[in-house]
Formats: sequence, C-alpha cells, structure tokens
Amino acid sequence: NPLVLMMDIAKVFYTDDVETHALSNVHFALEHGEYVSISGPSGCGKSTLLSILGLLDTPTGGQYFLNDMAVGDIATDERARIRNQEVGFIFQSFNLIGDLTVFENVELPLTYRDGISKAERRDKVLNVLEKVGMAHRLSHYPAQLSGGQQQRVAVARALVGSPSILLADEPTGNLDSRNGEAVMVLLEELHKAGSTICMVTHDPRYADFAQRKVFMFDGRMVDEETLHRLRQEE
Ligand code: ADP
Ligand code: ADP
Repeated sequence: NPLVLMMDIAKVFYTDDVETHALSNVHFALEHGEYVSISGPSGCGKSTLLSILGLLDTPTGGQYFLNDMAVGDIATDERARIRNQEVGFIFQSFNLIGDLTVFENVELPLTYRDGISKAERRDKVLNVLEKVGMAHRLSHYPAQLSGGQQQRVAVARALVGSPSILLADEPTGNLDSRNGEAVMVLLEELHKAGSTICMVTHDPRYADFAQRKVFMFDGRMVDEETLHRLRQEE
C-alpha cells in the first residue's frame, strides 16, 4: 500500500460568513521512498494540503490513510502522537528555537518520546547532524549560523525521529540561490538514502529536483498542461 492515500479530500474554512474551499476533490497517493513536489499559484491550497498531510490540520471531507492508519478524523492527542512519530517538518523560516543550541534543537523532538535514554538521544542527534554536515556546530545558537546552516539544522531536527515522511514547505524560500541549491542537494541525498519527501515550492528549478511533480490550482490537483491553460485564462 502507498504511504499516503488521500481520497476525495476537501477542506472548507469558515470565516465570518465566508466559506473558503481551500481543497476540493483531492486524490493523492505517495509511495514509500517517493520524492514529490507540489507547485501552484499563491492561495491554491498547497500549505493547507501539507498541514493535512502532516496531521497539523484535519480535512472537512474525504479519507486520509497514512501508513495504513485512517487519520482523517482521529482525536487531537492521538493525532499529535502519530505526527510526532511519523512526520518531519521543514519550514521556510527554519523555526529553530533561538535560546536552544543546535544540539538541543535537534534533540527536542526525541524528548517528547518515551523510552529513549540520554545516550541514545545523543547518538541519534550526532548521527543526523553528521548527515547534514553540521556536527561541527553543536554548541552554536541559531543566530550564530547562516541561513543555509540553520536550514540544515532544521532538516536534522526533522529527521532525528526517523519519520516515515518528510514534509517541506518552501524550504528554500529564505535562502539565496547557493544555499537553496545546497538544501536541494541535501534533500536529494536523503531521497536516495530512502526518505519519502513531499515538498511545496513555487520555484520550477527546485521542483525539478523531485522525482514526480504535482500541480494545484484553486484547491484542486491538476496536471501541468491544465495549470498553464488555467493561468492563461485568469
Ligand atoms: P497556498 O499555500 O497555496 O498559498 P493556502 O493553503 O495557504 O494556499 O490557502 C488556500 C486558501 O485557503 C486561500 O484562499 C486561503 O486564504 C485560505 N485559508 C488558508 N488558511 C485559512 C484559515 N486558517 N482560515 C481561513 N482561510 C484560510
Ligand atoms: P555563509 O558564508 O554560509 O553565509 P556566514 O558568513 O554567515 O555563512 O558565517 C560563516 C561562518 O561563521 C559560519 O560557519 C557560522 O557558523 C559562523 N558564524 C556566523 N556568525 C557567527 C556568530 N555571530 N558567532 C559565531 N559564529 C558565527
């Protein structure tokens, strides 16, 4: 079975008297080990989809299976537990905690888990920091790192719990092209080593790093030709 299976997913936001159909009729499957990019114009529903994929939010319709678990409408604390175990997030703004060191930032997700000793945590943290090339900056604070380095640390934090899926929302958005490319190369290496990755990007150059590209328009998944046609009609 695929790692991710979404069937007819819908998300409606109600704000005052306005209904926003952020997602409609979304069918999406992601195989184990796949690397997929999601692109489309601003406001088309990319972040909403990523939030649902990552169990940060729930759909208002449809069915979602993650690792064969029906996760569409489970209770909030159970959702948080599964999220902590199954999902690693990478954000545009890195989201590192400023008064924790590199080591402490990466260790943090493990401290929410039971049954991992301090020594085990240390091994895991050093191992992922080694993987992203940041093991020489254990005691630095985020403000003492360049943007590219901060994103590498954020990737390590996303990986440390061995999640089944890595979700990246515009991971290059705050980086210059040199650091952006470096992060893309890092994600490519992780993919080759077996990670399943779903990345939102509006930059076609970066979408090309993915193994498969999907496109969205106005809350729906469309193919690339349809997206171009719809944008011309706008
Ligand atoms: P994208 O990531 O592609 O820019 P989003 O998923 O952020 O798009 O937004 C999709 C649509 O849903 C937009 O019209 C946006 O205004 C709306 N939306 C997103 N989040 C909320 C929310 N919390 N409340 C109300 N509307 C929202
Ligand atoms: P880049 O060349 O990637 O933009 P920087 O010029 O920002 O990187 O930083 C170069 C090196 O100096 C990095 O390894 C970073 O860890 C270190 N560094 C940057 N700012 C500080 C700081 N305020 N305190 C300590 N080390 C720093």
